[in-house]
Amino acid sequence: MEMYIDPHIHLVSRTTDDYEAMRKAGIVATIEPAFWLGQPRTEVGSFKDYFSTLVGWERFRASQFGIVHYCTMGLNSKEANNIALAEQVMELLPLYVGKEGVVAIGEIGYDDQTEAEDKFYRLQLELAKEVSLPVLIHTPHRDKKRGTTRSMDVAEEHGMDPGWVVVDHNNEETVKEVLDRGFWAAFTIYPHTKMGSERMVEIVKQYGPERIIVNSAADWGISDPLAVPKTANLMRKMGIPEEHVRLTTYQNALTVFGLSGQMHEDDWLKAPPIDQTKKLGGNSVLRGGQLPRVEGPADRVEN
Ligand SMILES: [Zn+2]
Repeated sequence: MEMYIDPHIHLVSRTTDDYEAMRKAGIVATIEPAFWLGQPRTEVGSFKDYFSTLVGWERFRASQFGIVHYCTMGLNSKEANNIALAEQVMELLPLYVGKEGVVAIGEIGYDDQTEAEDKFYRLQLELAKEVSLPVLIHTPHRDKKRGTTRSMDVAEEHGMDPGWVVVDHNNEETVKEVLDRGFWAAFTIYPHTKMGSERMVEIVKQYGPERIIVNSAADWGISDPLAVPKTANLMRKMGIPEEHVRLTTYQNALTVFGLSGQMHEDDWLKAPPIDQTKKLGGNSVLRGGQLPRVEGPADRVEN
């Protein structure tokens, strides 16, 4: 069976049905970038608990459905505009960037391209260099072309190696410059929009698979946690070579986020069997007498 990585998905807002469907579709590993929650946070403690969830409960919850969970740590650009709070978050971040399963600093960058966003983006690029982690850049949805160019200019200004930087949410207008400058170009598949699977297929046809990464960025909005396997299947149907499918929906993400030293293929190839009798902090994914799923060693062989 094919294996996929979804390197950008906000799992705290997804259900256990999603986890089951994702694993069934071949997703073996996921990366959950720290981001905003729709509702702006007003206290630094809210960030602390969220970061703890990303490295704690959510990682455990994913494991209960046979998916290895990683995350990125960072202060998102929207909330960077609350300067007093952002400064407190910057003090908190060093406590989390070294935790198990943290594969990058992100998602950081620009939203409205304000001065405050610029300040905290730069500070976090310096943090990434300090702790030798790759960077995941969120590019703005408004004025995207200019924001994408600026994100790369500033990353270079801070001496970041483009080979350690993933520029996310690309489209046809931005991809060429991102690839030409040596950065990784990630694409978010938004269902019912212009940037759907069909357009992704065209981009891979045109640019090839090198440094191109597909993700779902599924969150609490209208989004599809199966966008990566669905796009892979469409690529096959449209005649894209299997090796190109493998690179863009699996291997490229592993290569760049593996630079963290925190993500290895053996993490899922040699994962312990699913055991839903396990608990974290006394808490389980089971409710009201549900039967736990417990895999025997033999159940894993077929994967
Ligand atoms: Zn995101």
